[in-house]
Amino acid sequence: MDIHVDVVVIGAGGGGAILGLLLAKKGIRTLVLEQASGPPHGIRGEILQPNGQKILDDLSLLDQLPQNAVQPVRHFHFRQIGGKRLCSIDYAELSPPYNRALVTLPHVAHRTVLEALEKQNPGGLWYNASFTNVLKKGRKIIGVEADVQGKPVRISANLVVGADGPASKVRESLKIPTKLYRYPESYLVAILDCPEKLDEAQYFLGKKEILGLFPAAKGKIYLVYLIDAESQNAIHAAGVEPLQKRWSAMYPELSATFQGFTNWEQSTVMPTGRTRARTWVTDGAVLIGDAAHGMNPHASQGRMQAMVDATVLADLIPSCLAEDNFEESRLKVYEKQRRPKVEMLQRLADEEAFFWNTGNPVLAWLRNRVFSTIDENRRLKYQVLTATAGLRETPPFGLLDRFLALGLVPDPRADQRPPHALS
Ligand SMILES: Cc1cc2nc3c(=O)[nH]c(=O)nc-3n(C[C@H](O)[C@H](O)[C@H](O)COP(=O)(O)OP(=O)(O)OC[C@H]3O[C@@H](n4cnc5c(N)ncnc54)[C@H](O)[C@@H]3O)c2cc1C
Repeated sequence: MDIHVDVVVIGAGGGGAILGLLLAKKGIRTLVLEQASGPPHGIRGEILQPNGQKILDDLSLLDQLPQNAVQPVRHFHFRQIGGKRLCSIDYAELSPPYNRALVTLPHVAHRTVLEALEKQNPGGLWYNASFTNVLKKGRKIIGVEADVQGKPVRISANLVVGADGPASKVRESLKIPTKLYRYPESYLVAILDCPEKLDEAQYFLGKKEILGLFPAAKGKIYLVYLIDAESQNAIHAAGVEPLQKRWSAMYPELSATFQGFTNWEQSTVMPTGRTRARTWVTDGAVLIGDAAHGMNPHASQGRMQAMVDATVLADLIPSCLAEDNFEESRLKVYEKQRRPKVEMLQRLADEEAFFWNTGNPVLAWLRNRVFSTIDENRRLKYQVLTATAGLRETPPFGLLDRFLALGLVPDPRADQRPPHALS
């Protein structure tokens, strides 16, 4: 079977599904290929930051998220393991209506987007459809080959979008040089019933140890625990009891919740990585999301940035179609707009990973001191919040702010909230 569409998107993940929906709404003939056999299942926590909430709202999808699966969270507290509270962040500092984080039960937002895509573009999302290679005419990409339910299919398109995640096959076929980095830490992620009450998110930071607890809907919590990337087998061999005990020692208020963690099926382990593709565009093809720029999850922005990529690209594609121009130089407009912000977030996430995950007592002491200084400094705290919320174009701290965050000299503007960063 040979078919033609305007745009073929590889991957119906965080970025690809949003792009498929945006393009279909603009009346652009779009086909999304997804290798999985259907919408995703399994354990996965999801925090929708304000920038992602706005994108879903603009698509009229935010109000359609099942309310019994979404938990608004305003306060995030950072604590030293076995010690004091270091810092508390309050999303109410942001402008309404996006002045909270939304913790959703697994895949709730993603499934809502996929359903909207299927309604808007019936037959435009193919499951069991794996990209195998690009089709070329000279240097120009003119479509893809795919394996669809075991049969080879050729799809010609004006634009091929690689939205196929960090191990992108599209990127590989385009021979785009890429730096892939696997962090030495992974996350054990669990969704647990919570008989106790947890209204506010809690982060416990130690030496090479982090426990994050986020209130979720239906009386559950979403738990993330930093582990050594190589330690999964050893942790499994030791059984769940050591973890129950360790978490209970850190936060006795939720002991009953931790006792409810009785088997590994309540959890999953997620590796963490960073991707840096040298270019995101070639003649007739473009990369979005983790395929172009995966980042450490500390930024809490990976999926959000894949969604922002989709909105920027969806705004550019109609003029490319009108001009019949999908050359690299035309598509660079998208990359030029997105790369600076994404690289800023990648650097920020790396810095956070360096200090938050550290096992070095001096660095841990410095980290705790910076958290405590930020807690007393409304201006710096607001800058940190707007970065996590995805509302900044520039880094949260300049050189002077870094010095002030050490708390060695007072900040004369500590009580001021900067006027920008609301959108
Ligand atoms: C522990 C952890 C916590 C995280 N928490 C957050 C968070 O709180 N907020 C946040 O914004 N981000 C978070 N992220 C990051 C986020 O998950 C990713 O950045 C995001 O999913 C990237 O979206 P994407 O569309 O680029 O790729 P993906 O969502 O990975 O989608 C890629 C899709 O392509 C499909 N695919 C792959 N190969 C092929 C092929 N050959 N043919 C067809 N289809 C293919 C895959 O099946 C998949 O559906 C977290 C990540 C981790 C590891």
